[in-house]
Amino acid sequence: MTKSQPIVLIAEDEESFIEALSVGLKREGFLVEAARDGEEALQMFEKHHPDIILLDIMLPRKSGLDVCREIRAHSRVPIIMVTAKSTEIDTVVGLELGADDYISKPYRMTELVARIRAVMRRTPSSGTEELEGDQRYEVGVISMDPARHEVFVRGDLVKLPLKEFELLEFFLSNPGRVLTREQIIDRVWGPYYAGETKTLDVHIKRLRGKIEQTPSDPTIITTVRGLGYRLEIPR
Ligand code: CA
Repeated sequence: MTKSQPIVLIAEDEESFIEALSVGLKREGFLVEAARDGEEALQMFEKHHPDIILLDIMLPRKSGLDVCREIRAHSRVPIIMVTAKSTEIDTVVGLELGADDYISKPYRMTELVARIRAVMRRTPSSGTEELEGDQRYEVGVISMDPARHEVFVRGDLVKLPLKEFELLEFFLSNPGRVLTREQIIDRVWGPYYAGETKTLDVHIKRLRGKIEQTPSDPTIITTVRGLGYRLEIPR
């Protein structure tokens, strides 16, 4: 099988969606595989090694949430979760499934394709993965080794889901600088991110919960009113 065309695995139980997506994505140059339930999604993931997964949350036999968790246990393949309502996104983000992006029905084909391309750009496929060298970060009580995907806070290893890890990495590479909401969203979620801007606040809150001594009165990642956030350099 040639890998010149990226493979999209659609996990979706509504036949009309599958048809529309297949036609639209093929026209954009993707190869499309479709799974009709969660179990089949896992089987097809193993069989086809897709470059990206478009994963509906409400699936028969096994929910998209469980499918995402199971795939994330051993793979960093890009996953875009599909919710039935935009109001569900915060809840889903809060579950820390490790998905790369979220989109809610109904969505436009152009928006979906932009999101797929953005997520794929941010995720180097295996084999072309950039060498991260010995780049490590140490700011105050936090140290990070991106190559090993490890974060230590006050000497303790802290487990962070992918998005929180990337968020913290962006702060660590810009210590003391105010980062605007737009810059952060652009960097961590990609320039075509059009989801809820509350997503950022949810992630900041979760990250603070893990790194701050008093998350309600943060001293590491502080809010700069009207602008964004800053990683403070301790004096
Ligand atoms: Ca469904």
